[in-house]
Amino acid sequence: MNRACAVRDEQLVAFAGGADFDLDEHVATCDQCQDFLAELWDGGLDHDLVEPVVQMIRLELFLMDAAKLGGGIVADMLQALITYLDPGLGKDDQ
Ligand SMILES: [Zn+2]
Repeated sequence: MNRACAVRDEQLVAFAGGADFDLDEHVATCDQCQDFLAELWDGGLDHDLVEPVVQMIRLELFLMDAAKLGGGIVADMLQALITYLDPGLGKDDQ
């Protein structure tokens, strides 16, 4: 997906996950970014990174329920996702 603005999908995914608040101001005024976030939050976006992670989290939830494990695993996975996405942020040398 090509947006007129320079914001990348990865940044919006991180923003949606609460990891990139720098985009607050931009997203508030950018229709294209809002459209992307709307699709993302609606679950209608077939994102190559989010999709497998969401499935892993669902599996984790299933395993937690099945094994009666304590909490924290899903939170750890979300943190891992944010950490995974973060290195790509702010690397634009434009
Ligand atoms: Zn934008």
